[in-house]
Amino acid sequence: FVERTPLIAGNWKMNLDHLQAIAFVQKLSWALKDVKHDFGDVEVAVFPPFTDLRSVQTLLAADKLALTLGAQDVSPQQAGAFTGDVSAAMLAKLEVKYVLVGHSERRHGHGESNETVGEKARAAQAAGMVPVICVGETSEDLEAHGAAAIPLAQMQAAITQLPANAEFVIAYEPVWAIGSGQAATPEQAEEVARALREALRDLRGDDRAAATRILYGGSVASQNIAAFMRQPNVDGALVGGASLKVDEFSRIVQFKK
Ligand code: PEP
Repeated sequence: FVERTPLIAGNWKMNLDHLQAIAFVQKLSWALKDVKHDFGDVEVAVFPPFTDLRSVQTLLAADKLALTLGAQDVSPQQAGAFTGDVSAAMLAKLEVKYVLVGHSERRHGHGESNETVGEKARAAQAAGMVPVICVGETSEDLEAHGAAAIPLAQMQAAITQLPANAEFVIAYEPVWAIGSGQAATPEQAEEVARALREALRDLRGDDRAAATRILYGGSVASQNIAAFMRQPNVDGALVGGASLKVDEFSRIVQFKK
């Protein structure tokens, strides 16, 4: 039996400039200062916009805050003539640990293919960071193929580009649940998370499958987090809107089993 440290990840999307980010992280770390869980540790990560990373990194280092830094995207390229892009090496230099790849707002808003998502995961991994591979079905996919088929195909396409021993996190986010206020049920999330873990066993072996954290994302709030966390294959949450409210996000982090 492998203990998986729960991961609560806050995706700020395109919100908060770097001064607002500093104020926010200070308030958040104050709110989380005395958090004691009755079942062990929880890892809390924030995913600010690129322009905030340096400020947040400096603050975390100076105050030894127990928050982990993540980025929302990365270029698949190493360096060069890629105007507007940010490389994995640049992020790693800022002590970024996690990188979201394949968020639905990138797949659907920027036309990112499974192949591109895999290349981004590979670039992040090669620079020493942990890709958080986002997968999820649209409501049309759900009707046509059921819940698990598209997430499984997206996960497989991305991880085949990673070396055999690579660490990664999977975030299952049904597209219809993101920002809609209509979360999946805990049972729906568990069903897909279980299917993803079973597929990981075939793709990467029992040990990696048992050690890999699978997050649920899509309208997570303080009222529903505990029910998701009770599911055996759900190891945390990727939180969008609710991660921008200090009180709400700190209640989510303090979910009780
Ligand atoms: C997200 O964007 O990853 C997300 C889950 O958003 P929300 O929590 O707002 O649905």
